[in-house]
Amino acid sequence: MRVDQLDLLGLGHRMGDVAGDVEQDVIGRERARSFESIEESRCALEEPLEGRAVDHQPPASRTIRCSTRAATSRRYSAVERTSSIGASSPASVVDLWAIEALRGIAIDGDALTLGALTTYTDVRRSALCREHVPALVEAAATIGAAQIQNRGTLGGNIANASPAGDTLPVLLAADAVIVVGSERGERDVPAAEFWTGYRQTALAHDELIVRIRLPLAAEREMRFRKVGTRRAQAISKVVIAVAWQGDGSWRDVRVALGSVAATPVRAAATEAALEDRRPTPETADAAAETLAGELAPIDDVRSTAEYRRLVAARVLHRIVRDAGGW
Ligand SMILES: Cc1cc2nc3c(=O)[nH]c(=O)nc-3n(C[C@H](O)[C@H](O)[C@H](O)COP(=O)(O)OP(=O)(O)OC[C@H]3O[C@@H](n4cnc5c(N)ncnc54)[C@H](O)[C@@H]3O)c2cc1C
Repeated sequence: MRVDQLDLLGLGHRMGDVAGDVEQDVIGRERARSFESIEESRCALEEPLEGRAVDHQPPASRTIRCSTRAATSRRYSAVERTSSIGASSPASVVDLWAIEALRGIAIDGDALTLGALTTYTDVRRSALCREHVPALVEAAATIGAAQIQNRGTLGGNIANASPAGDTLPVLLAADAVIVVGSERGERDVPAAEFWTGYRQTALAHDELIVRIRLPLAAEREMRFRKVGTRRAQAISKVVIAVAWQGDGSWRDVRVALGSVAATPVRAAATEAALEDRRPTPETADAAAETLAGELAPIDDVRSTAEYRRLVAARVLHRIVRDAGGW
């Protein structure tokens, strides 16, 4: 559904300037009161879109929150203060949670569409996702724990723009289109163009992510692997999604990775090394070697660059081997 086709009937209002609605935390600092309940706060998509556009506020003074970042804002405050995405104590907050128009998983023509507020639990429970993008279901299952999966959204994962966002390589490998909207209308941003720098996106400050469109491809195979410190509740050290078409030689190969660069990335040289090749031992060796040479990860608290490079190459090798059945 397009922004300009939304039904406004029966929808109340929820987009408040919370600057005057404060309480004190345990050490006496003022903070915004918790959000009102969902029942009280149904609203239409136009309200936040218009609100953001009319106010012309820079991102630092107006932020959008669905859930997980708000719930952990104390822990994330340092990150948010230094990021271009939002301030930890914004002048106003737009709560998207009650906007039904941002929900829903459906087939729309030749694509699977997922509303920006689709949670990881929604993805895991969706028969359509299991049928058309099982790799996204796998990715959703690796994120946080049940609480995060119930409240964290795909739109939030995308806009958060963390290079370690676990769904992002899947979206890149699936040639996803991020549909963003503002008062000016909607526009499509290919996932490959969405993350423009470290925690930076192609979103203008008056735009929201409205939905994600995943082109359907009947013959597409995709594999997802996440490597973290533990099997659950871990931020990725390396996350990889590999997609291809055809059960003999591989066509339209996509190799997308997270946690190995400032943004989620596609590995173009590795894709070329796999294109039109069968998944043989020689292909796996060549692709893994190419990937190890192509990546330029960083050292950080979670991992060394060398570890990331080697693990990414080994995981890709394993994916090709499993696909080849040898
Ligand atoms: C304990 C914990 C564990 C986690 N584990 C993982 C993990 O394993 N893997 C992983 O990838 N992430 C993880 N996360 C990060 C986070 O939960 C996810 O990125 C989640 O998808 C964020 O979605 P959200 O709806 O909560 O967004 P929020 O946290 O509310 O928002 C994140 C950012 O996106 C913006 N935003 C949100 N929705 C929109 C929209 N529709 N349009 C425009 N901007 C928008 C907000 O303004 C904000 O800047 C974890 C977080 C916590 C607290």
